[in-house]
Order: sequence, then structure tokens, then C-alpha cells
Amino acid sequence: MLIDNHGRKLNYMRLAVTDRCNLRCFYCMPEDGLNWLSRTELMSYEEMLRASSLLVKMGIEKIRITGGEPFVRKDIMKLLTSLSQLNGLKELSITTNGILTSPHVAEMKALGIRSVNLSLDTLDADRFFAITRRDEFADVMNTLNELLKHDFEVKINAVVMDGKNIQDIIPMVELTKDLPISVRFIEEMPFNGDNDSYQGVIWDHVRILKEITSHYPQIKKLVDPAYSTAYNYQIPGHKGSVGIIAAYSRTFCGTCNRIRITPQGTLKNCLYDDGVLNIKDLMRSGLSDEELERNLKNAFNHRVADGWEAERLRVEKTGVHESMATIGG
Ligand code: SAM
Ligand code: SF4
Repeated sequence: MLIDNHGRKLNYMRLAVTDRCNLRCFYCMPEDGLNWLSRTELMSYEEMLRASSLLVKMGIEKIRITGGEPFVRKDIMKLLTSLSQLNGLKELSITTNGILTSPHVAEMKALGIRSVNLSLDTLDADRFFAITRRDEFADVMNTLNELLKHDFEVKINAVVMDGKNIQDIIPMVELTKDLPISVRFIEEMPFNGDNDSYQGVIWDHVRILKEITSHYPQIKKLVDPAYSTAYNYQIPGHKGSVGIIAAYSRTFCGTCNRIRITPQGTLKNCLYDDGVLNIKDLMRSGLSDEELERNLKNAFNHRVADGWEAERLRVEKTGVHESMATIGG
């Protein structure tokens, strides 16, 4: 079992497999995209497997594949297949924008993947275009239908943005009436790949909940699963549930069980830190698994208490503004 210096169990890893994406969500990256990593800067699948296998031996039980958009990386199903066979891994899941996902749904199910987080901020095609700068709404809805047809546990991630999708909050809650999905509203964070454009969190978790309760005064709080980053609720009679993630307010750090590996192999102990170790560089310098494990353990013994401390201690003092696509969310 992996325990950090604050006594928190670490059993969840988010592995970002690429920084590239086929959307340009304005809260995540500039319209022109990013300076994409070159092939050699990216971790190879072999390196990802080696690191994952070691971390699973050390105590990681759940891996979520993210990006950038995982399905734009060539042969992603090969990586998923290998990861699904890792001894000791209890859960493999994926976060996707759903554009290229639907043809792979049946195969994902066959690999034993049970849960998919689908990012969708609006139920309106025009607003989808305004937010993502791409006209691909129909493909995302198609993926949602495929996932439901194959009985996946589906969580919809919706970033709440002033002036962009506030009118979608209630219709998205309404989706939970007939669909057994969890719709999770996420506070917008500063990770948009741009120094200046983040306005601060205008819709925080308190305001989002107020908006929902004003339409559904009968809403009930659910017991949150262990390590949940979401506050979970249900409208009585609805099949699905609603979650609110205080991603900017950082109310969940006390039970943080997660680590992150970025597409270039940087280990992040916190979403808000700027990286504590580069696993890819260590592997390429010829370190043995034992030496790698020592380095990893040392990093886990120096985790910060919370995201506020992580932000304060960043080496890069210009503030948090990297693209979420370079982290994985
Ligand atoms: N491309 C995939 C997708 O969109 O699902 C996976 C990567 S994306 C970076 C992972 C999650 O981060 C998405 O649910 C996205 O909505 C969320 N995200 C990206 N930028 C964000 C921001 N500035 N604030 C809050 N959430 C953000
Ligand atoms: Fe791409 Fe996901 Fe970022 Fe949107 S949030 S630009 S889909 S990586």
C-alpha cells in the first residue's frame, strides 16, 4: 500500500497519453492549439507500461487514461489492451471528448473497462461549437448512446462557464431523469494555456448548487464514495445523479488519493504543482526498477498538503496557466 507523508492512501493514477486534441475547448487551450510535443518528448507505450506496472506493484489500483484526447494517439487500443492485463490493477477507465470514441466502445467493454467519463458542456450544437471551436456535437452524442447501449458507467463532465453554458445546467440535470448517468459540474480552473484570459471562478460549487436547488428544491444529498472529488446529489425519482466538483476551490485535498503522469512523463503529486519528477527521463537514463521505485517513494513522501500549497510552491512563479491537455485533468 502506498501512503504519503500526510497519511493519505495513494491508489489512483491519471495517465495522460498525449497533449494533442481534435477539439479546442477555450477553457483548455488556445484556438491555434499548443506547441505539440514531438514523438521523442512523449512517453512511448513501452515506457508507460513499465511505469504503470511498477506503480501498480507499489499500490496503484486504478488507472484513468486521459490526455489531450486519448483517441487521437495512434494505436491507443493497444495500450489499453496491455494495461487491462496488468496484474493487480483493479480498474482501468478513460476520459474522452467522445469524437472518435464510438467505434471502440464494444472493444473497450470486452477489455473489462466499465467506466467512461465523457466531456460534454452543453446540449446545444451551436453552444458546443462556441465552446470547443469544432462542429462535432453529433459525434459526442453518438458516443454517449453507444456507451449506454453497452452498459458503461457514464459520467458526464461539464465545465461551468459564465456566459457560455449556464442555460445548460438544468437541462443537463434533467438528463439524469431517464438516463442512469452521473452529470458532474466542474468549476472552471485556470488551465487554459493562456497567461491572461482566466477570469477567476465565477461559478463556484456553492453557486452551482444554488442554481440547481432553486429548480429542484427536493434534491437530496447522497453519501459520497470514498475519495470522491464530487459532492453527489440525486433528484428523487431520477435514475441518474448529479455531482459538483470544486476543482478550483479545492475542498477535497484532505483525502487526495491521486497522482498524475503527464504525456512527457512528468509525475505530478497535485494538479496545481508544476511537476516533481520526470519518470521518462529517469527510465531513459537507464535506472533499474528498484532505483525508479526509490525515486517515486521519495516523491510520495514529499507531497504537499493541498492544492493551495502546491500553487504557492511552484518553481514557475508566473502562475497557473498551462493547458489542461498537458496535464490530463
Ligand atoms: N480530451 C479529453 C476530454 O476532454 O475528456 C480528456 C482530457 S481533458 C484535459 C480532461 C478533463 O479536463 C475534461 O473533462 C475537461 O472538461 C477538463 N478540463 C479541461 N480544462 C479545464 C479547466 N480549465 N477547468 C476545468 N476542467 C477542465
Ligand atoms: Fe481537448 Fe479535452 Fe482539452 Fe477539450 S478539454 S481541448 S477535448 S483535451
